[in-house]
Amino acid sequence: MQIPGHIDPVPLPAKVTPREDGKADIIGLSQPEIRDLMIEAGLDAKQAKLRSKQVFHWIYHRGITDFEAMTDLGKQLRPWMAERFVIGRPEIVEAHLSEDGTRKWLLRSADGQDYEMVFIPDDDRGTLCISSQVGCTLNCRFCHTGTMRLVRNLTPGEIVGQVMLARDDLGEWPRGVMDFADVEDGRTQKEYNQDYKSDGRMLTNIVLMGMGEPLYNFDHVRDAMKVVMDGAGLALSRRRITLSTSGVVPMIARAGEEINVNLAISLHAVNKEIRDEIVPLNKKYGIEELLQACADYPGASNARRITFEYVMLKDKNDSDEDARELVRLLRKYDQPAKVNLIPFNPWPGSPYECSTPERIKAFSSIIFAEGISAPVRTPRGRDIMAACGQLKSASEKKSRAELDRLAEEKQAALG
Ligand code: SAH
Ligand code: SF4
Repeated sequence: MQIPGHIDPVPLPAKVTPREDGKADIIGLSQPEIRDLMIEAGLDAKQAKLRSKQVFHWIYHRGITDFEAMTDLGKQLRPWMAERFVIGRPEIVEAHLSEDGTRKWLLRSADGQDYEMVFIPDDDRGTLCISSQVGCTLNCRFCHTGTMRLVRNLTPGEIVGQVMLARDDLGEWPRGVMDFADVEDGRTQKEYNQDYKSDGRMLTNIVLMGMGEPLYNFDHVRDAMKVVMDGAGLALSRRRITLSTSGVVPMIARAGEEINVNLAISLHAVNKEIRDEIVPLNKKYGIEELLQACADYPGASNARRITFEYVMLKDKNDSDEDARELVRLLRKYDQPAKVNLIPFNPWPGSPYECSTPERIKAFSSIIFAEGISAPVRTPRGRDIMAACGQLKSASEKKSRAELDRLAEEKQAALG
């Protein structure tokens, strides 16, 4: 069932971006979509079904980008595919490595749009933070991406392409028996294959917390996540994917129905006045409505709690009273919640300061004392401007006055 949601003000680009050489880039497409393209190109339906399954596996399970390497595809079919299709990747414009191991990539689409992706390694997991849009239509005051105008939504290929590129760069495609002949380090074939078991992965989690508001590009985000979750390909569990939203209330139910990944809500304030100021979308969808949508989110149980993100802004939203009000609100909506306190990450020209470490600790303790988990997120990759809210591609720079004017225009358009 499709639940009617917000009419996205941003035009959706075609799912497959046309290329100058006339070939179709099939990255990001599902197996039935690849099958349909094969049929359109003249393959009979039965062949297309079988072959698209093989191609899907090569692309998303093995990370192969060259049809010639798809050994079970048949000698004639391989060049036939290569004449019509490509398996693309976003172009890497810049790659940065932080002193804490965080990596940031500046990527470019075929039509020259820049967007960013960040990989955050931890002891027990590796999290890839991906973008859903180039820029953002919303204007949260504390967010660097919010100072960019929205350029466009990313396609499923550009969203899945980020995951593919990260795995390329981390060198973690399973090579399995195919390359065993090359192994010269004394491992048996079994040991070799075990190294590539999914539990040995570096990239274990995905968060939609890069540039953009994923619920304003929901159709493409959904299609991309379905490909990422497909058991015949990347096979990442929906429990390892978290979608962060600034609170596009009507789309939350659809996200629950159609992908049911973990949800994170950028709450950041507990009263209308402050939230209106720092997350202007609040003027359209208020706190109470937002919390009700969260309470209705399917599968929100103690085992799978919704995360409430709360950026710590000095003298803005960080008082003891705010902490107590946060607890009251979460209780009122009977939320099985966890709170994630994010120290504000500054960027050039940012209008706020981060709360002091003592203040953050006191805020966290009040919430903990009420039995709600409220860890403080350690900022990662600040030295390379990769931390939360610091992403912004250099494609557009505007004065603050111009930005405020644009914000007003956007606000008027939101109604
Ligand atoms: N648009 C989505 C997802 C991207 S932002 C959203 O707003 O939820 C990911 C997270 O970083 C959000 O919680 C966002 O509020 C937070 N954030 C933005 N700017 C920040 C900054 N300067 N410091 C710390 N966190 C920030
Ligand atoms: Fe957009 Fe999220 Fe930044 Fe707000 S915090 S401007 S919704 S990316």
